[in-house]
Amino acid sequence: MNEPPPDCRCMTPPFMYWDFDAVPVGVDGTKGRGGEVTLETCKACGSLWLRYFVEYEFFSQSGRWYRGLVTPEVVESLTPERAPELLQNLPWLFSGGSYFRSTGRRSTCMVILDI
Ligand SMILES: [Zn+2]
Repeated sequence: MNEPPPDCRCMTPPFMYWDFDAVPVGVDGTKGRGGEVTLETCKACGSLWLRYFVEYEFFSQSGRWYRGLVTPEVVESLTPERAPELLQNLPWLFSGGSYFRSTGRRSTCMVILDI
């Protein structure tokens, strides 16, 4: 898969919602996670990103998100429940959120979602 230009908005955190066209996939209800799954297309380079956001309202600083580069073929049959597995199998992704005290950094694996 071709990576976006390294200086594209979709490769340089912090990410702004207005830089993407977002399509909601649904909510991952596995173990009551309530993870919000969204597909985002970069308006600048057209890259497709799978975004997963989860937050536990009873815990402060628990917001965390992951976003990984995907292809239209991969997400064709995507369900919200399968999104974490798909992200975990990517060679790298971005992660961030209040839990990580980060506005986004590149990482090589997706940390376990559940508290
Ligand atoms: Zn881009």
